[in-house]
Amino acid sequence: MAENGEAAPLVTLAHVDKYFGDVHVLKDINLTVSRGEVLVVIGPSGGGKSTLCRTINRLETIDAGSIVFDGRPLPAEGRELARLRSEVGMVFQSFNLFAHKTILENVALGPVKVRKVPRAQAEERALQLLERVGIAAQADKYPAQLSGGQQQRTAIARALAMDPKMILFDEPTSALDPEMVQEVLDVMVELAREGMTMVVVTHEMGFARRAANRVVFMADGQIVEESAPEEFFTNPGTERAKDFLSKIL
Ligand code: ADP
Ligand code: MG
Repeated sequence: MAENGEAAPLVTLAHVDKYFGDVHVLKDINLTVSRGEVLVVIGPSGGGKSTLCRTINRLETIDAGSIVFDGRPLPAEGRELARLRSEVGMVFQSFNLFAHKTILENVALGPVKVRKVPRAQAEERALQLLERVGIAAQADKYPAQLSGGQQQRTAIARALAMDPKMILFDEPTSALDPEMVQEVLDVMVELAREGMTMVVVTHEMGFARRAANRVVFMADGQIVEESAPEEFFTNPGTERAKDFLSKIL
């Protein structure tokens, strides 16, 4: 957990419902994420995991219920929304780096554009972050010249460059070749140890065991089960989770 042991949760979702047309994608979701907590979200495809992440930084609106981030309801628009987005980092399955910018430029871009940090200062910080995720030597290369694992570590450095209050990871290792999964998970475990608040959609049991405080099992738009990682993997409380685990393990 984080060194600042503040009791107030960083994010609280209460009775959140979300529809896409007639499809009820999030059903009465109640969830809190504490400061410094690492929450792993796991569950079958189509269960609403990505949508859940996307509601937290308001890439998706909700149809009912409320989401409070850092003590305030999620802003609908304008400056406050831009601020929220900059405070909630997001790392996707596809790295979404700018192909025509170097690794260093990719990481420095957010602070320069959004925070108006002078370029030289932003690049100095970007280089430190690239060191932290172990790819400073690649700083002047372009994304296509990097491995998938290196690109994803760049995406993590880019998220960190905004000094986020939390980072949402949506299946960050799913698109990677198997031999590159670990180098990305290692960076994430390190972040967790440093106290970053993280919501991580992943099926990587090893990561959940090493870093998660809690596992949430989601299916059909509902939170079916919420447990300690070890308990979830060794003794799931629901048939639904047992069935799911039997398929991925
Ligand atoms: P998961 O990440 O667990 O696989 P998603 O949140 O991506 O699940 O999807 C949950 C459900 O919402 C699925 O039925 C999916 O088809 C649907 N869905 C997701 N995004 C959209 C969208 N933009 N428009 C319509 N339906 C969507
Ligand atoms: Mg998804």
